Amino acid sequence: MAAITIEKLSKHFPDGGETVVAVDELDLEIDDGDFVVFVGPSGCGKTTTLRCIAGLETVTDGDIHLAGERVTDTPPEDRDIAMVFQSYALYPHMTVRENMGFGLKYATDHGADYIEERIQKAAGMMGIGELLDRKPADLSGGQQQRVALGRAIVRDPKAFLMDEPLSNLDAKLRAEMRTYLQELQEELGTTTVYVTHDQTEAMTMGDKIAILKDGRLQQFGTPAECYHEPSNTFVAEFLGEPSVNLIEMELDDGRITSAYFECETDSSLTTAGGHGEVIVGIRPEAVELSDGDPSAPTEFHAEVNVVEHLGRESNVHVTVSGTSDELTAIVEGRPAFTGGEQVTVRISEAAIHLFDARTGDVLRNATADGTDKIHRTPQQADS
Ligand code: ATP
Repeated sequence: MAAITIEKLSKHFPDGGETVVAVDELDLEIDDGDFVVFVGPSGCGKTTTLRCIAGLETVTDGDIHLAGERVTDTPPEDRDIAMVFQSYALYPHMTVRENMGFGLKYATDHGADYIEERIQKAAGMMGIGELLDRKPADLSGGQQQRVALGRAIVRDPKAFLMDEPLSNLDAKLRAEMRTYLQELQEELGTTTVYVTHDQTEAMTMGDKIAILKDGRLQQFGTPAECYHEPSNTFVAEFLGEPSVNLIEMELDDGRITSAYFECETDSSLTTAGGHGEVIVGIRPEAVELSDGDPSAPTEFHAEVNVVEHLGRESNVHVTVSGTSDELTAIVEGRPAFTGGEQVTVRISEAAIHLFDARTGDVLRNATADGTDKIHRTPQQADS
């Protein structure tokens, strides 16, 4: 088991005459035994970072430490890290037993009895004990993935690196394996870095998540921190389904205003440079709909576009009357209103996330318990 420290890691690839910056000055401290998920859109640098940790890519700049030791230039076979890929990467001509024992047989001095003992233990944990004499072609996709995971466990490495390991499985099996992997990691306590572009996997599996965009770290924290206290509009939008509502408004002397909405906020809040352009973020679960009339500056009329019934709750998509601003609300059960009807929307001041419209950076977060959290701009912090 081992902590992983990434310091100012950069990785550039040549691309014709150009340079692709896949990872850009990434700093990250992964604690011993933590399950950390790298998440972000396609091309944000998740896999490249993972491959740098594994030693499969040379780094352009920066350092990587594993269990307190600098491994930046250490060959992959000497890092004692096990990787699990989306493609399973099993040897087709070998049995499950041979696939699982391969690394121990050729990369260590362990005897056959010890290796068989490790294989039996890992196969037991993965529930594939009866498949040990089969070849990969005779296994289902889910079973192949269990073998690939079993092969990683057998080695008892310092860390597991997993690159979209569940992507090839159907939705039901993926959900099952998600829970299974979490239980397994808890039992083994092995530091794990898991790459996915799926925000549900990130939110449900990670002790912590690292959200990347264009090779740069946007936020690193627990799923709850990143969801309730997003550091910018990108993180706010990336986490949560349906997505957060983002609406352009004005900030002036502690008041947030638009053509149809007005509320007080902390009077010390300003954007970088003091311009008044802000983006108000409201999670769909914080948008309240009713059939009454607006009776406060935080309430306004809207027209229902579509109602999506999901069983326990419904997503209601509305357009603010007289504007093109669209909002989504999550409503318990089956709401009474349907498409074309007028409703009154209420947004509680405590539920508002406020971002600088020019930089996207957060100015204020609504937190889970309803108390707001002010983020000072560097200028404010200096004064
Ligand atoms: P995905 O979810 O699609 O796998 P990712 O977040 O894992 O994406 P990376 O595979 O790390 O992203 O790629 C980051 C950037 O680096 C992309 O722009 C990609 O095109 C580029 N890149 C990755 N590997 C190479 C390479 N060998 N040569 C040139 N460019 C590369």
